[in-house]
Amino acid sequence: MSIISEMVFYELIRKLEFALDIKPKNEQLEILHERFKNSSERIIEKAIDYLIDNYSNKYNKFPQVSEFIEAIREVGKESPDQTNEDLEGRKVLFTCQICRGIGRFIDEKKSPGGVEVFCQCEKGQKLYDNRQAYFEARRIK
Ligand SMILES: [Zn+2]
Repeated sequence: MSIISEMVFYELIRKLEFALDIKPKNEQLEILHERFKNSSERIIEKAIDYLIDNYSNKYNKFPQVSEFIEAIREVGKESPDQTNEDLEGRKVLFTCQICRGIGRFIDEKKSPGGVEVFCQCEKGQKLYDNRQAYFEARRIK
């Protein structure tokens, strides 16, 4: 098992881009690479194949960090020959390094002083969905 190299990571991402026919933003790719640069090549390769087979393209958005994590979990379940490194890799994945698991962070590139934004990780997307559900519920009342 080896940690994925930057070159292989971007090659696999390109394959996913072609398969889904969606062009991600450079910032998105940087976030994905930052997040999965310590994962094993084997698990990322499998996760990308899983996304190619299963990703639903209904929003025409490139898969987000949370969707990659979901794919990694799914491929982990399928392989009974998991190595300790794979399991380690998955444990590391549970705390988002961008928001430190909080789900929101200050984007300092946006306007002076930064703007608080929802993270692209599972926690961030959950917070975002909750907020949308709240506004939706208010609208119906
Ligand atoms: Zn996060």
